[in-house]
Amino acid sequence: APYAAGALMAWVTATNGPDVLLPLAKALVAVYVANILHAAVVYSGAVYLFARMSPLRFFQGMFEAWAVAFTTCSSSATLPVSMRNAQENLGVPNEISSFVQPLGATINMDGTAIYQGVCAYFIAQVYGITLGLPQYLMIILTATLASVGTAGVPGAGMIMLSMVLQAVGLPLDGILLIAGVDRIFDMIRTSMNVIGDAAGAVVVSATEGELKTIPAGVDVGGK
Ligand code: ASP
Repeated sequence: APYAAGALMAWVTATNGPDVLLPLAKALVAVYVANILHAAVVYSGAVYLFARMSPLRFFQGMFEAWAVAFTTCSSSATLPVSMRNAQENLGVPNEISSFVQPLGATINMDGTAIYQGVCAYFIAQVYGITLGLPQYLMIILTATLASVGTAGVPGAGMIMLSMVLQAVGLPLDGILLIAGVDRIFDMIRTSMNVIGDAAGAVVVSATEGELKTIPAGVDVGGK
């Protein structure tokens, strides 16, 4: 696969010129910034508003799961670690964690949806296609649906990106541009997918009045 992705990238760059690489770098930065903002605003806000949990404590407690997600690029492979982190470090009871987190690992993929939205826009830009409001709405809708259907394994989000591109009439060849560096996109989107499921588990536990209090001073720094 690495050789094939390298060959595809070489072909796309040779055909379109090296100018296509700068927008690709910008797309990478955009996906990282959007995901980090999403975590900082939505996840931090949710755990703070619903569970009165400090966002710092939340992210510290999930550090180990984040590290595994970042390196394996698989929400499914990270599931045991993220469930353990949520239960031991954040006080999510086993019954809620073992329902919410596996369900989230299957259908809740915010990081993937963000990535698909940014990449669809990036591909439109590379091919000089101007998108209007209906197309943007279509991207939002199909990226949300495609992320729900994405499996928690490395690279699955890129395959589902084809659905988004087809829905708005963008050329599927655009995926070739992304294929070579998709792993770098995958690291951040999988991290967000996993952290998002944990945030959901914390919110459900809090709204059910089941969130356990972890005594202050307990090391939640990812052991
Ligand atoms: N690798 C992602 C995950 O496991 C799915 C994707 O490719 O977007 O969550």
